[in-house]
Amino acid sequence: ASVPRDEEVPVLPPDVTREIFDAAIAELKRKLGEENVELNDKPLVDGWYLEHPNTHDAFHVVPQSDLVSSATVYPGSTDEVVQIVRWANDYLIPIYPISMGRNLGYGGAAPRVRGSVVVDLGRRMNKVLKIDGSNATCMVEPGVSYFKLHEEVQKTGYDLWVDVPDVAGGSVLGNAIDRGVGYTPYGDHFTNHCGLEVVLPSGEVLRTGMGALPGKDGADNPSWQAFQNPYGPTPDGIFSQSNFGIVTKMGMWLMPATGHQSYMITFPRDDDFEQIIEIIRPLALNRILGNIPQLRSVIQELAVTGKPKSFFYDGKDPMPREVVRSHAKNMPCGDISWAFYGTVYGNKETRDMQLEIIKREFGKVAGARFILPEEMPPEHYIHSRVNVCSGTPELRELDWLNWQPNAAHLFFAPITPTRGEDARVIHEIVSRLHKKWGFDNFSTLCIAGREMHWIANIVYDRADEDSKRRAVGLMREMIEEAAKNGFGEYRTHLLFADQVARTYGWNNQALMRFNETIKDALDPNGILAPGRAGIWPRRFRGKGWEI
Ligand code: ADP
Repeated sequence: ASVPRDEEVPVLPPDVTREIFDAAIAELKRKLGEENVELNDKPLVDGWYLEHPNTHDAFHVVPQSDLVSSATVYPGSTDEVVQIVRWANDYLIPIYPISMGRNLGYGGAAPRVRGSVVVDLGRRMNKVLKIDGSNATCMVEPGVSYFKLHEEVQKTGYDLWVDVPDVAGGSVLGNAIDRGVGYTPYGDHFTNHCGLEVVLPSGEVLRTGMGALPGKDGADNPSWQAFQNPYGPTPDGIFSQSNFGIVTKMGMWLMPATGHQSYMITFPRDDDFEQIIEIIRPLALNRILGNIPQLRSVIQELAVTGKPKSFFYDGKDPMPREVVRSHAKNMPCGDISWAFYGTVYGNKETRDMQLEIIKREFGKVAGARFILPEEMPPEHYIHSRVNVCSGTPELRELDWLNWQPNAAHLFFAPITPTRGEDARVIHEIVSRLHKKWGFDNFSTLCIAGREMHWIANIVYDRADEDSKRRAVGLMREMIEEAAKNGFGEYRTHLLFADQVARTYGWNNQALMRFNETIKDALDPNGILAPGRAGIWPRRFRGKGWEI
């Protein structure tokens, strides 16, 4: 919705007067060009996934105008990023870098500090810089989406896959440094990156990995995308989920294409949940489950049809179990509790051998049913999984945004070991608290091997204040209860960054104190994304910013 703004706009950064702000913006325009600086002074429009606004959090869980920028700047090169960083230091104006800003469910393009200037890298820095087809690597700028990289890789004629997340409109670079996941064997995006170029908050430009060693005659190092961890400490990790630098280039590994066979296994009884997880663990550890499979709660079979909740159920309360079952019964999956989506890779012989073991092991669960894509109607979600699990960009997962009017979503994303008794603890917390706060429980478990990313997707109505209030309440309580039991989130929405950061508090917040030490050394003026990942620079600390 587009709502007229009832305050003076653009909203100013903290401790900056309008006079200074105007002078600063005028200078930024002189440096970068008038057309590359835009004030955030028009009505806020939420748009939708592909036309997301970079002015605020389109999936707001607090009032729409709470998390807003003052302006957006569009650099066209690393050198222009350096100029922006120096400018921010001169004026003490916080800047907030984004790649494409489609990080919906985690805060979108919104800065944590109101009135920050968003540095939108993606609009002009959007090139695939290199594709090394024979060594299966590439190097991208922040504005390269999965769709674009896929297309460019196709053009080379090399048979290579780009691992894609569920929804492929986001930035390859942004997703990796925010530690997003996909589903092929290359699904751990940050683990498969190779080499970064980073602008530090001082304006210094750093290359990590082999990139630090200059190539012949000033060329890029020939091994930059081939080896991740050469000499000395490996700093790459501190530039992911942090506010220590602006990443302007990233190397990434591509997967040689291979044969693949997706499948689905359905389980009728929720009581068998622990047994299912116990069967998954050894199969995942031994790489019989070749990719990152998903275990999805049955209600998602309803939601991915793209039909609204009201089609299935009149009430506003969470859909009762019997109602979900009664609808599932008439669907291709049948009356089930969980659906497991997996893919095996390799030649036919290898795949068949793996499928034999998979069928045999899951066959131990009462009523388990093994289904191939060709047994399902063409509109069934399994066909979208086939694409996602073989490196083909998709948007289908967005369909469950039809579930609610004005739907937005928020992710609760704890990590659990792949073990029945641990997963049961999260299952119990998530189920009980969703019921208490009045939300349907859309849980998906993404299984990497020894651990699972448990993704509980809270779908709420962003036009309804009460729905937003309950979504926030649910998040806060789940984070707290999970932490009490020893579980923590791998990633979270901006608003919950402080709470989640505090849960990683072993030894009197040793990790946070370490992060703050790095932050203060690299960013003494506290200009870069203050508060991101719960890390506040000295000038903001203890002044009520932490929530
Ligand atoms: P996507 O469009 O891929 O979903 P975003 O561009 O929204 O991702 O990035 C997710 C988050 O990661 C951003 O909100 C920002 O905090 C951080 N981020 C993204 N790109 C960069 C970058 N190039 N340098 C530093 N931080 C970044």
